Amino acid sequence: MSTVLSVDNLSAGYGRALAVRDVSFEVKEGEVVALLGRNGAGKTSTLLTLSGILKARGGTVSVGGRVVAPGRPYAATKAGIAHVPEERALFSGLTVRENLIIAGARGKSELAEVYELFPELERLIDRRAGLLSGGEQQMLALARALRQRPKVLMVDEMSLGLAPLICARLVSILRGLADTTGIAVVLVEQHLELALEAADRGYVLRHGSVVMSGTRDDLLLRRAELESSYLGGA
Ligand code: ATP
Repeated sequence: MSTVLSVDNLSAGYGRALAVRDVSFEVKEGEVVALLGRNGAGKTSTLLTLSGILKARGGTVSVGGRVVAPGRPYAATKAGIAHVPEERALFSGLTVRENLIIAGARGKSELAEVYELFPELERLIDRRAGLLSGGEQQMLALARALRQRPKVLMVDEMSLGLAPLICARLVSILRGLADTTGIAVVLVEQHLELALEAADRGYVLRHGSVVMSGTRDDLLLRRAELESSYLGGA
């Protein structure tokens, strides 16, 4: 499998403080990779840097072997990186349909594609996004991001505030997408169980650095260490 996303020695931060320190990881075609770590470990900042919102202080991000110009959200989007932020970035006063239209779903076939992946959205199409449940909002956010036809889909804390059943379903939808379309998925998660349910591999961040990485099975074997040292409470 070819490498879709390659992150090499990436550093970024706020003011003088570095939130991302020399982070390197890669995601191959059809892979789901989890970025794990407790609050403040630098997961969100890593995604923001990949999206060009936070300017890299060093290192490179490449998609399909081509370096993405740093600090420019448009360049990241153009390179094929889509980002579903923690807050989901929906227009809450607009309907589901309008949210999809703004993301570029203009015709029936595009809506049909959305319904195929997220059947719930069909009956909710004229409801305001702000009135949807958390799980439905997450589906809409994912559907919007997928309209970009990204090569890399990054999803930040998808599980936040959602019931376990819906999280499991969303994660399995992403797994299926990676398997069938080859899209490279980056899942930022605090929930180890959930992340490893779908992920092929994972990287654990602490104080902005990668401190552990491995395949799903490696990480499951080292779970006790992972949980006591790098996840859960401070
Ligand atoms: P969370 O799950 O809480 O989002 P995280 O692993 O994604 O945690 P980041 O949000 O990337 O972690 O935070 C990494 C570090 O950067 C933390 O020390 C945090 O306090 C700091 N930080 C994050 N956002 C800002 C900001 N806008 N200004 C200054 N410091 C920030």
